[in-house]
Amino acid sequence: MDAPVRTNLLGMPHAALVEYFTALGEKPFRAVQVMKWIYQRGVTDFTAMTDLSVALRDKLMECAEVRPPEIITEQQSADGTRKWLLRMDAGNAIETVFIPEAGRGTLCISSQVGCALDCAFCSTAQQGFNRNLSAAEIVGQVFLAARELGHRPAEDERAITNVVFMGMGEPLTNFDNVVAAIQVMLDDNAFGLSKRRVTLSTAGVVPALKRLAEVCDVALAVSLHAPNDALRDQLVPINKKYPIAELLDACRQYVSRQPHQMHITWEYVMLDGVNDSDAHALELVRLLKDLPSKINLIPFNPFPMTRFKRSPDARIDRFRDLLMAHGYTAITRRTRGDDIDAACGQLAGRVQDRSRRHLRRAAGSDISV
Ligand code: SAH
Repeated sequence: MDAPVRTNLLGMPHAALVEYFTALGEKPFRAVQVMKWIYQRGVTDFTAMTDLSVALRDKLMECAEVRPPEIITEQQSADGTRKWLLRMDAGNAIETVFIPEAGRGTLCISSQVGCALDCAFCSTAQQGFNRNLSAAEIVGQVFLAARELGHRPAEDERAITNVVFMGMGEPLTNFDNVVAAIQVMLDDNAFGLSKRRVTLSTAGVVPALKRLAEVCDVALAVSLHAPNDALRDQLVPINKKYPIAELLDACRQYVSRQPHQMHITWEYVMLDGVNDSDAHALELVRLLKDLPSKINLIPFNPFPMTRFKRSPDARIDRFRDLLMAHGYTAITRRTRGDDIDAACGQLAGRVQDRSRRHLRRAAGSDISV
């Protein structure tokens, strides 16, 4: 006989847990108790949850579980960056990267195995789309990193201060699971992260961005990469469906709905001779003039078979200086963790197969938002 299917409580937002316990004939406050055990104490074994009745512990042992993904390997860079390879199914894996910086620690997480958007300069695109991650698998990345880093959300040591959805996948095409995962990250009974320190990065799925504005107020990063439709159509094909003007409207709407002052972080990958001229910088200056903006220039990270090259450093500096001369905040992302292949565009999307060939994927992991 098959083993009974247990409900994985990892990644369930408070409201869903309340529903779960109510269905079990329990009081709603059990949800808070269990969340604290899981996220603040890192406890996954129900028998150790000593403020639950013995009967409830027994019941949970039977019908529930707290199951994060399995860690396959961990690597640590000379600069302190840490990278975990997590097992999914069908020979797939995703990676989660922790980037420590002075005063903060950023965790870069994935939302899908593969990606369907087919951006020209991104190697995840070459892998194609495999599947959405569940809320448990998304929150599980934060849970595992917190555990490995000895991070206890309720105590003073706050190793993980920021979470960015800049790993593999397009978070807005996995809307419900991503929103559920965000709710858990922000919940004071769970990780209690500040909403300004959880950043969703999108290539611009406009209808989903409009929906997001209604349910969520986390920080927003948008992968722009080009200042006009003709060029963006080539680099980020979803632009053909939702062109720049529509994207900017949705961004304006997102910003205007936020109670606190907020800017959009624009990501702009620097591709030699493609989108990095002075004229492109000036076009960008005009394009974004009525939006509160911060521009992150990402030096392109090459991968096998790509036709693109990274812009020379002097060109990136000149591009950044032009933006700054026009009053924008613009920074160049420093590459972190490249000795363990953890920089943008260097994360492996699959467990090594028998031919020991790595499939590379691209993801933002050297993050500054
Ligand atoms: N789907 C989301 C998250 C993607 S990864 C999005 O598009 O925003 C995060 C960032 O890394 C994106 O801005 C993405 O365009 C960028 N990126 C992808 N491939 C890259 C590469 N090879 N070099 C540098 N940045 C890359």
